[in-house]
Amino acid sequence: KSKARQKGDVLFFDQSINEQVQHDFLLEEELRHALSRDEFYLTYQPQHLIDGDQLHGVEVLLRWNNQSLGQVPPFEFIPLAEDTGLIHEIGLFVIEHACRDIAKFNAEQGQQIQLSINLSPKQLIAKDFINQLVKRVDCTGLSYQSITLEITENVLISDLVAVTPVLQQLRDLGFSISLDDFGTGYSSLSYLNTLPINEIKIDRSFINKLLSSDQSDSLVKTIIAIGASCHMKVVAEGVETNEQLQRLAQYRCDIAQGYLLAQPLKFEQLCERYPSSQSAINSPA
Ligand code: C2E
Ligand code: MG
Ligand code: MG
Ligand code: MG
Repeated sequence: KSKARQKGDVLFFDQSINEQVQHDFLLEEELRHALSRDEFYLTYQPQHLIDGDQLHGVEVLLRWNNQSLGQVPPFEFIPLAEDTGLIHEIGLFVIEHACRDIAKFNAEQGQQIQLSINLSPKQLIAKDFINQLVKRVDCTGLSYQSITLEITENVLISDLVAVTPVLQQLRDLGFSISLDDFGTGYSSLSYLNTLPINEIKIDRSFINKLLSSDQSDSLVKTIIAIGASCHMKVVAEGVETNEQLQRLAQYRCDIAQGYLLAQPLKFEQLCERYPSSQSAINSPA
């Protein structure tokens, strides 16, 4: 009896592994064709200055709508894109289209907003990355100063030696560098001084517990103070309630991003949500 059951368990186990392998295989196969089939699109999540509540910029977030798998979330396809090397082409697609959109937004809405782009460290350390980046940006007329490149803290530290000189070159060109998901990694305060970083994004897990955990509260307060003393902008991710926003204002956090302000929006929605400023409408043609 016990043998049969063991056998059954093993079979069941094998099947689920098999299904996982098949799913991964399908995912990879579909990902290889996603660009040519035009299945990617971009969304933009607004970032507001906390003091004055005005639009500071947007973070571009990639979306994939596949013909057979439907909507696939970034946490599933970004790691796969990194493992397969597809991230290079996909990343350049994001850069090109986001810069074009935001240049258009600035021109038509009479505003000058910041564009934040997520980068995988694999992209950063690719030989020709900076050339490719600059080429794409130059075509759109967007200034390097209006672009912030976000790098996740964890992966940055693990590739520190390779990544640091690239970040320095990007800073020298005028790009801003943001440390994403701050607080979740193995960060040491010394990195903040040695790395060419001018923004930190407090991970949304801390904002989530801001009102319910004293520990999160003091951590957030401390991160904001450290950011200020290092002359960095501090962004809070995942702001979902007014209470969180008020607490962040009290601690003098610079910028907020989250569902309270807006979900990630398609470009048309972004333009509707933030129409031309009065001064732009009244300015002489
Ligand atoms: P991230 O850069 O930390 O982006 C923030 C994530 O939090 C986004 O998830 C966003 O939709 C979500 N979010 C924003 N506000 C709230 C909120 O108030 N509550 C909650 N619960 N969530 C909120 P998303 O779009 O699923 O992206 C996940 C991750 O995928 C991103 O994390 C980023 O690391 C990566 N990613 C997205 N687009 C790209 C891309 O173009 N290139 C690369 N390399 N990575 C990307
Ligand atoms: Mg990000
Ligand atoms: Mg983040
Ligand atoms: Mg995050």
